[in-house]
Parts: sequence; C-alpha cells; structure tokens
Amino acid sequence: MTQVTDHRGGVWSISVPLPGNPLGHTLVHLLETGRGPVLIDTGWDDPASWDALTAGITACGFAVADIHGVLLTHHHPDHHGLSAAVREASGAWIAMHAADAEVVRRTRQARPAAWRAQLAARLAAAGAPEEHLAPLRTARGGELPGQRAAVPDRHIAPGELLDLPGRRLRAVWTPGHTPGHVCLHLEEAHPGRAPGARGDEVGAGFGRLFSGDHLLPGISPHIGVYEGPDEAPADPLGDYLASLERVARLDPAEVLPAHQHPFTDAAGRARALLAHHEARLGGLVRLLAEPLTLWQLTVAMEWNRPWERIPYASRTIAVAEAEAHLRRLMVLGRAAAVPGSNPVTYRAV
Ligand SMILES: [Zn+2]
Ligand SMILES: [Zn+2]
Repeated sequence: MTQVTDHRGGVWSISVPLPGNPLGHTLVHLLETGRGPVLIDTGWDDPASWDALTAGITACGFAVADIHGVLLTHHHPDHHGLSAAVREASGAWIAMHAADAEVVRRTRQARPAAWRAQLAARLAAAGAPEEHLAPLRTARGGELPGQRAAVPDRHIAPGELLDLPGRRLRAVWTPGHTPGHVCLHLEEAHPGRAPGARGDEVGAGFGRLFSGDHLLPGISPHIGVYEGPDEAPADPLGDYLASLERVARLDPAEVLPAHQHPFTDAAGRARALLAHHEARLGGLVRLLAEPLTLWQLTVAMEWNRPWERIPYASRTIAVAEAEAHLRRLMVLGRAAAVPGSNPVTYRAV
C-alpha cells in the first residue's frame, strides 16, 4: 500500500519501508522544482522499498525517470540505500556533504578483514572481554554495510542556497549523527499560512525544515564516534549539541523529519534533546567517581533495556555512543584518562 502525504506547496512525503527495523519506515521527501522533482533521501536498498518508492513517486504525479536530483541528509543506508537505483532509472545527480561522501568512498574501499581487525583492536583497547572480540576475529569474507553505496556526483556546501529553479532551499550543516549530516531549510512561506489555507499545526517560525535524523519528534538519534581514521579525536557529541543550537535558532514553522512524523516547535524539541544529553553526561560523571575502562563505563550506563538483553551488534554501537559522551567530558575537562592504566581507565576530575 502506497503511503504518500501531500504537504502542499509542491512538497510530498513517501513512506518507504525499513525491513526488520523497529523505526518502520524512512520518510522520503519529494520537492517539485522548475527542472523536475528532486528527492530528499531515497530509502533502504530492498526490492519492497524500491516498489514503495516508485509507487509513491507515481502517486505524487511523476515518474521515477523524471527525477532531476537526489539530496542526501546523510550517508546512512536507510537514507542513501536506493540512490544508485534512482540515478540508474533517471540520470539524476546525487548530492551529499563532503564529509559523508568521504565516508562512502572509504567504506567502498575498505577490506572487510582489515576493517574487522581494526574494530577488534579498538574494542580490545576499550577493555572489551574476549567473548565480544572472538566473533570479529573468526569472521571470514562477507561484505560490509554500505560497500556498494553510490558515490555522490556533487557536494552540498554548508549554507549554500541550492540551485533548484523556483525554490529556495538552503543547506544547514548539522554534524553529530554523522560528520556530514545536513538539514535542508525550505525558505518559503508555509502554505498553511496562505490566506484561506488550512492553518493546521503551523508554528510561529519561517519555512519548513527537512531534518533527516538530526531532529526527530520522539527519538534521540545515535551519536557515536565517527568512523574512519581518528588521528585528531573528534567530538561528535559536541558537534551534535552545537547543531541542535543552530537548528533551534532557525526556528522553522514545521519540521519534516526522515522518520516518525512532522512536528512544530523545533526549538522546544532541540532544548529537550540538549537537556537529555546534559543529564546523560551528569550520570557518566557520577559513574566515573571510580576509574572505569570504556567497556566498563558502557556496561554501567543506562540503556533502553538491561545490558544482558542487548544484542551483540548493538553492544558495539553502545560502546561508540559511550565513547562520544566520554570524549565530550574530556573536552569539557570533566573527565580524564588515568595515567599508566592499561587498558586505559578514565575518571571524573
Ligand atoms: Zn542516520
Ligand atoms: Zn535514519
């Protein structure tokens, strides 16, 4: 069943299923322009998802062959997965922020064995037990997620007004969830404000914001250490918190996120997420009253279920999330490594 919502003013959303994921679907947005429709994200690479996307484009009154371009909020496969298929079917260009395009290129070139060895070394340094490392050491062959993702044709520059005839769409760089995440601000009067239009659920601000995974109405997006070489340790949580402030200042009348449902009061939602992370950082400082390895800290943190019930792959993701919080505390001078400890332990200062 095709699920399409007409948001008016030449904006639609298409609900593209996300198989086997509790999120349920990705909301792909279609924006009509003077050169044909442009997609914001494309959805998960799966035959049923492709059928839903193409049926959705038809329900909006276009054909997939008409697609002029694809704008990606970020490189994750539930957003970028079908981009190659869309380009194949239409000749559309694909645009992404340079930092995420770099992740796509690196992932395509990665050798699975070397990638697993590197991850195992990092987890060992974090103090992970042998039972968590063993599956990485014994796995053979296979393909890494995103190894066949499309290489973008163009980069989206921060602050850029995109070249889309008849539309005012501006890129807002919002690193944190990924290093090159962007939100896209449609700097046009909200159609709910036009005289005689339905004025349902329109906030006080200006325009509409396609927020990707940066700002979701009921989920705090995963913030982990960025993939790839980290000679200069990045501070993804610091990036994310600054990006939340940036979006709060934009104050759009409505947010069109890539999961769940549209909402208003972007500033209120951003403040709630800022408070959530501040509370989480405070909880970590209390745990670090005694020295802990990154692994011990991860196990001690509060998750959405007891640690024993968290599946293997999610535990690795949890370590990345704990590390992002720990790096933030170290940048703030609220935690430090214990000199001489091996594996390295950290404590509050
Ligand atoms: Zn994502
Ligand atoms: Zn997503």
